[in-house]
Amino acid sequence: MRSPILDYLDAIVEQTGHIDSGAPADYIPELAAADPNRVAVALCTVNGTVYAVGDADHEFSIQSMSKPFAYALAIEDHGLDYVLERVGVEPSGEAFNELSLDPETGRPRNPMINAGAIATHALVRRDERPAVERILALFSDLAQRPVEIDEGLAASELATGDRNLGIAYLLHASRRLAGEPSASVEGYIRQCSANVTVRDLALMASTLANGGVQPNTGRRLFSRRTTRQVLSVMASCGMYDAAGDWFTSVGIPAKSGVAGGIIGVLPGQVGVAVFSPRLDGHGNSARGVAMMERLSEDMGLHLMEAG
Ligand code: GLN
Repeated sequence: MRSPILDYLDAIVEQTGHIDSGAPADYIPELAAADPNRVAVALCTVNGTVYAVGDADHEFSIQSMSKPFAYALAIEDHGLDYVLERVGVEPSGEAFNELSLDPETGRPRNPMINAGAIATHALVRRDERPAVERILALFSDLAQRPVEIDEGLAASELATGDRNLGIAYLLHASRRLAGEPSASVEGYIRQCSANVTVRDLALMASTLANGGVQPNTGRRLFSRRTTRQVLSVMASCGMYDAAGDWFTSVGIPAKSGVAGGIIGVLPGQVGVAVFSPRLDGHGNSARGVAMMERLSEDMGLHLMEAG
């Protein structure tokens, strides 16, 4: 028998079908070619059961939803204090690609905006492999399948990545970058170009919901403390300059990506992922935000709701 949860997720897709505002990101040429009408929703409980509807097997690039996981890896590699000295945890109130560092400390304000994410990428330790290979291996462990880079997309973003290069040189000039600027940006862009589905993302989010243990394999990928840190930063900074709006209306830690995905995490309960390529003015999926608002309302996900 079909689970009533799937019927419910279908209803969310249907009820938000009229939302066609915004447009796919176009600053990366390949992203502009996305079919704007694709839509998918998935959730994964902390027992590892995935429920997914819509274009649930359609692959799209993880983009900025990669940032919390790379941050977790950097903390696991170096310890929290080391990372905190180099990347802050204050909401920036600015767009994701803002060219700015905290004027007092010279640090990027947080790891969810590009400045902090490029610095974080450069902190991920490389063994024999480049850092991005370790990040991909982590994505694969989280999603329980081999996650790969969309090389065409990475090339497209690299060719138009002047702004991120500018950020990396600014970091370098402030002695805030652990690597060489162009290599750091290339690694960061490849990290963002990993292809995932909402199913993968729901599993990845559920590992954060489950305190760092992948619910199906039982492998601990992050410590509880690291997971708490990542979720706290997602709660305060994950939706960029819409973070306050998001937290008051949806009320769970989340992260968006410019390909149109959003992940959300209800600690101890569930990981959620939505996908719809049209973005609002903050660079967050417009229909994705609406779908998350409904899920939060109907399922009582808001963390500030009593009882
Ligand atoms: N790779 C993208 C960039 O750096 C990611 C941005 C995003 O998803 N917000 O511009």
